[in-house]
Amino acid sequence: MVKSKMNQRKVKIGIIICDRYKNCAGGKCFKSISEKAGAFDIYKGQDVELVGHTTCGGCPGGNIEYAPEELKKNGAEVIHFATGMVVGYPPCPYIEHFKKFIETKYDLRVIVGTHPIPEKYYLTHQELNTWNTPESLDLIEAVLTKEKIRMSYN
Ligand code: SF4
Repeated sequence: MVKSKMNQRKVKIGIIICDRYKNCAGGKCFKSISEKAGAFDIYKGQDVELVGHTTCGGCPGGNIEYAPEELKKNGAEVIHFATGMVVGYPPCPYIEHFKKFIETKYDLRVIVGTHPIPEKYYLTHQELNTWNTPESLDLIEAVLTKEKIRMSYN
């Protein structure tokens, strides 16, 4: 038991959140890391270490240019964009650009999403017809989850 735990690989991640939620205490993101829910589902069976957490710096995201360097120096292998980026009103219009930039400039994997979409946000965006294209559906794929799970992140 102890041996298998010692051999378990630890994944180091960084999180970048939408600056509109800069006062967020991170409750849902930390809960989902612990539960391996939403976008963290892919780490089931692995330990996850959060090596840095920051905001985009405010529209149009000036911190995206520099923050990944610091996260990478701390060992981050994957950058997660917080779910707030895709469920804010409106969702961040720069997500795809940010993702491509970080992957290209810093050679880091970028995953859009952290915790499962809370059900109340899901329902409002359904009414707003926000996710009406294959591209927008791709952006929420990792955090859409099931209704029961979305309810537990409401
Ligand atoms: S909408 Fe996008 S660029 Fe604007 S604050 Fe949020 S994440 Fe940053």
